[in-house]
Amino acid sequence: MPEKILVVDDDAVVRREVVEDLESAGYKVVTAEDGQAALAKVRDERPDLIIMDVEMPGMGGREVCRIIKANRSFGFIPIILVTGRLNVRAKVDGLEMGADDYLMKPLNYLELTARVKSMLRLKALQDELRGTNEKLLQVNKRLQELSMTDPLTCLYNRLFFDKRVDYEFQRAERYRSPLALLMLDLDNFKRVNDTHGHPFGDYVLQKTAMLLLEIVRQVDIVARYGGEEIVIACPETNMAQAKITAERIRSNMENTEFSSGGMTAHVTLSLGISVYPNNEVKTAGDLLRAADEALYRAKRAGRNCYRCTPEDD
Ligand code: GH3
Ligand code: MG
Ligand code: MG
Ligand code: MG
Repeated sequence: MPEKILVVDDDAVVRREVVEDLESAGYKVVTAEDGQAALAKVRDERPDLIIMDVEMPGMGGREVCRIIKANRSFGFIPIILVTGRLNVRAKVDGLEMGADDYLMKPLNYLELTARVKSMLRLKALQDELRGTNEKLLQVNKRLQELSMTDPLTCLYNRLFFDKRVDYEFQRAERYRSPLALLMLDLDNFKRVNDTHGHPFGDYVLQKTAMLLLEIVRQVDIVARYGGEEIVIACPETNMAQAKITAERIRSNMENTEFSSGGMTAHVTLSLGISVYPNNEVKTAGDLLRAADEALYRAKRAGRNCYRCTPEDD
C-alpha cells in the first residue's frame, strides 16, 4: 500500500504542484487548505507524513505542528515545514515546535521526493521500534505476573506474599491500623490424595483458591504458602472482623462438594488467626508465626475450626 501524505498549503497552485509531484512518485496524497482542516485530516486520514506551509491565514504551520506533536494518540507522524522566506529564525522556531525537516519554496521535485523518502523511512523505523517496545512491555508484564504467581492455583506465591506482608505491616505500624493474618491448612489432605488420587487433590486446591477469592475482599492478599497451606493478609481488619471472615471460609469449605472425574469429596480446613497490634508481635514474621501457632492449636482441637493468637479467654 502506498504511503499517505497530507499536503497543507493555503495556496492552491502550490498544493496542486506538490500533489502532482508526490502522486507521480507513487504516493497517495490528501490535502488541506488551512490549519484547522489539517488537524481534521490528521485525525480522519492518519497520514504517514505531513508537508505543511508555515505561513497560512489563521492557524499557521508551526502552531499546527505543535498541536500534532503534543497529541500522543497520533503516534509519530513526521512533519516537513515549508516556508517561502529564507528566514533562519522561522526555521529554528519550527524545529522547536517539533517539525522534523524544513523545505524552502519554490519546491524542487528532486529535493522534495528525496526528503519525503527519508522521512518515511524514519517513520517506518519509529513504528517498528514502537511495536517492539510494546511487545517487550507485554512480555515483561507477563514475566512479572508469572514470577509472583503460583502456577497451580493462580494465587500469589510465597515470595510475593512475604514482600507484600512486610509492606502491609509497615503501613499498619505507621497508620496505626489493624492488620489480620489468616493461615489455613486443608484437613487430612494426605487422605484425599490417597483416596482419590493426586490430580483430584490438585483440583481441590484449585477450587479452594477460587472459593477463597470469592469470599475475601479485593484488598486482601491471598497466597499459596506451602503445599496445601494458604495465607491471607487482611489490611484494616481487627480480630472481630477476622473471626467473621475465618468462620465464613470454614463453613463455605465444609458445605462445598468437590466433584471431578466422577469422584466426589467433602474437604474441611483449619485456620489460625493473628492480628496486629498485639504486644507479642513486632514484625511481619512474628505475625506469621503467631498465625501458624494458632493454626496448630486448631488442628489439635480437632480440625474444621479456627483458633486465635492471642488466645480467647
Ligand atoms: P492435617 O489435617 O494435619 O493438615 O493433615 P494433612 O494430611 O493435610 O497434613 P500433612 O502435612 O501430613 O499432608 C499434607 C499433604 O498435602 C501431603 C501432600 O501430599 C499434599 N499436598 C501438598 N501439596 C500438594 C499439591 O500440590 N497437590 C496435591 N494433590 N497434594 C498436595
Ligand atoms: Mg502560505
Ligand atoms: Mg493439611
Ligand atoms: Mg500442611
